[in-house]
Amino acid sequence: MLETAVCKVFCSEFGYRTVNDALQVMGGESYMTENHVERAWRDSRINIIVEGANEVMHSFIFAYGSKQLGEWMLGIKKNPAKHLGSAMQIGSELFLGVRRPLPSFTSTDPRLNGMMHELMMRVREFSHQVKLMFKEWEDKLVTEQPIQARLSMCAIYIHAMTCSLAKLDSHIRNGLSGEKLAYEMSVVEHLCSMFGLAIEEEVRALRTNADVSMKRAADAVLKHIDSLPNIDFAIPERTMDMKARGTGAKLNPVNEEAIPHFGAGSVFHGDVIKRAQPQRA
Ligand SMILES: Cc1cc2nc3c(=O)[nH]c(=O)nc-3n(C[C@H](O)[C@H](O)[C@H](O)COP(=O)(O)OP(=O)(O)OC[C@H]3O[C@@H](n4cnc5c(N)ncnc54)[C@H](O)[C@@H]3O)c2cc1C
Repeated sequence: MLETAVCKVFCSEFGYRTVNDALQVMGGESYMTENHVERAWRDSRINIIVEGANEVMHSFIFAYGSKQLGEWMLGIKKNPAKHLGSAMQIGSELFLGVRRPLPSFTSTDPRLNGMMHELMMRVREFSHQVKLMFKEWEDKLVTEQPIQARLSMCAIYIHAMTCSLAKLDSHIRNGLSGEKLAYEMSVVEHLCSMFGLAIEEEVRALRTNADVSMKRAADAVLKHIDSLPNIDFAIPERTMDMKARGTGAKLNPVNEEAIPHFGAGSVFHGDVIKRAQPQRA
């Protein structure tokens, strides 16, 4: 479940960013309906929302991923005398900043050693930071979604680095060499550098962030919105706010005929696909 959730968030987020970059690279031409990239951009945006909106998935990844560790720490906190060895170990980590030994790796191709070593450092530091967050926030971490999302992003980056290195290692074992290996190696090296930096940023943001002012501003905005008359706004029919149901502005019924549905407008027709994809010999 955890790995599936991690893959869902990663693929939807980076799928969208990739198409968004393609749109930028292609310039104004990309915005035209006859080009595939415009449709791919619009279609990939929904993946961040459907099958579990990513904001909700972050809380799931945090909760499910850290449950075992949190329960273990809580057990020690409740009865340190019973778990004296573990209590001393976790105490030295939490209060003296002692790090555990790096996880070991033995079977990967030696050419991947540099990246593997960096990955292990990230894993160790991530696990240390999760423990510190449990110590600093205690029970409040259960509802502290911005912190949860940052820890979830770290786990996602680590997972992406692990998968990429595992795949490259398997390709090398299956004989990948020469230019093809250099190509794959350069892509994975860039991915590891990029995500290594991204993890550092997320870890920094665990303590240096605008969360307090964001919450204050959000409260103020909600209060302001509540002071506005509902009748000036379109309110969804099935709004969660029962008091607001039926009190919004009466909109003119939408003229459905003007909206292109499947089978027209937004759907590619055969001739467009033929033009965009030349026949292969
Ligand atoms: C084209 C399409 C096809 C679909 N097909 C199916 C289908 O086949 N089967 C099916 O079951 N459903 C389907 N859905 C529904 C889809 O699963 C939901 O749209 C999706 O789960 C998001 O729920 P929502 O639209 O109610 O958004 P909401 O839950 O209202 O979310 C709106 C925003 O609020 C945020 N949010 C909500 N809760 C939290 C929270 N606890 N913490 C932080 N942020 C939060 C979300 O991240 C999002 O940004 C489809 C939707 C579309 C658009």
